[in-house]
Amino acid sequence: PIRVRFAPSPTGPLHIGGVRTALFNYLFAKKNGGTFFLRIEDTDQSRFVPGAEQYIMEALEWLGIAPDETIGKNEKFGPYRQSERKELYKQYADQLINSGWAYYAFDTPESLDAYRKAEEEQGKTFIYNHTNREKLDTSLVISPEETAQRIANGEHYVIRFKTPVDEILHLKDIIRGHVKFETNLLDDKVLFKSDGMPTYHLANIVDDHLMETTHVIRGEEWLPSMPLHVLLYHAFGWASPEFAHLPLILKPVGNGKLSKRDGDKLGFPVFPLEWNDASSMTKSSGYRENGFFPEAVINFLALLGWNDGTEQELFSLEELVEKFDLNRVHKSGAKFDPEKNKWFNHQYLIKQKDEDLAKAFAPIVEEKGFSTSLEQTTKIVSLIKERAHFVTEFWELSDFFFVAPTTYDEKASKNWKDETPALMLELISVLEEVTDFTSMNIETIVKDWLTKNEIGMGKVMQPFRLSLVGALKGPHLFDIVEVIGKQETISRIQKAIE
Ligand code: GLU
Repeated sequence: PIRVRFAPSPTGPLHIGGVRTALFNYLFAKKNGGTFFLRIEDTDQSRFVPGAEQYIMEALEWLGIAPDETIGKNEKFGPYRQSERKELYKQYADQLINSGWAYYAFDTPESLDAYRKAEEEQGKTFIYNHTNREKLDTSLVISPEETAQRIANGEHYVIRFKTPVDEILHLKDIIRGHVKFETNLLDDKVLFKSDGMPTYHLANIVDDHLMETTHVIRGEEWLPSMPLHVLLYHAFGWASPEFAHLPLILKPVGNGKLSKRDGDKLGFPVFPLEWNDASSMTKSSGYRENGFFPEAVINFLALLGWNDGTEQELFSLEELVEKFDLNRVHKSGAKFDPEKNKWFNHQYLIKQKDEDLAKAFAPIVEEKGFSTSLEQTTKIVSLIKERAHFVTEFWELSDFFFVAPTTYDEKASKNWKDETPALMLELISVLEEVTDFTSMNIETIVKDWLTKNEIGMGKVMQPFRLSLVGALKGPHLFDIVEVIGKQETISRIQKAIE
């Protein structure tokens, strides 16, 4: 059975790139009847940020892609927090020492620094690998007895991977195809530290093995770690999962990876939820608080690096599950487009029930100091939603339904001529006679009056709109008239005449 994971480190809020990784794992799992689990990789305690784990869970929940297994949920392969699996990793590090795939290194930061400087003076770039591991302070050059003694004395050490020499690795990535790595260019990564903590690489491999991960789907920034990971599986004698490295998400303008700063600088969210950074007292805005529908966020994220081969752009989560295919994920980076994201939100907004939108809008209306019935708000929403990307834009598009204009758009006032007041008075008497005060009926009566008296449409309609709205904008005029009602319509015209 397919088992995939999302394995973030809780070092801050979940960036949109991380969410895309979670989504693709979710889609792949659901498409194949598999399991999607969440593992928290918190072995680097120095980078741990309080609240980040909670944030990650809440974000996935909000987006509707919560894991099947994680902390507190179907803990079949738990614990799912690496810090709680701490005791487990040492034996695996020992296993690699015993089989000759790893060694102890006692170098102090000072001695390493001195060595690095000396190398650089000779024009070499320092990497810790086969070229120097026998010149440094490692168990490869000191006796087993001395090694044991120094460990017993409490000396600080790390366990490093003994990368094989002179090998060319031909590996397969589902998205990138064949990828080649030369082992001589790799460094001997630290796997374990004497403080008892494994590094990311060791913990990740051990857990993916123990948790029976079948596919590792993650961001492109982890591609350089792939050879080490494959070598580690080999060293343990375990089958390696398959790998798929997702393309980068690029800035909207210019080149390079989308960053948190792009969002803050250009004024669009790059996080699913708002994030309050306690250390710097700053706040980064989130999609949820900006009025995005989770379905819209899912939809645009799915298209960052994937499409179904057609022109289709709107996909529900169910449809994505049905159509998603890792083989159709692109190799090249995907440009992030904040404007297009708004377009997606608009598409989901117009699909909502008017009544639901009205319920979301009601608190805003109330906050502005007005009270209306749900029926009235629903009507208003139905008239303006085509023009909105977000519910938060509703007020600006509909304020004239609630308040009479106090100013009249100057440019539009050119339409207010000397003859206008007399025409408006006539219009009032026409309106007063209308009994069935509904949009269509009012329109018919007013237009009949215009035709009969050979009055040009523009002469009446524009000042009429100006009187009601204060500007030449808004939905169909007679819809506005119906919603605000006879009395208010007449009083607004009278006010405009004065
Ligand atoms: N903890 C790593 C991260 O923060 C996981 C990378 C992986 O999926 O292997 O992204």
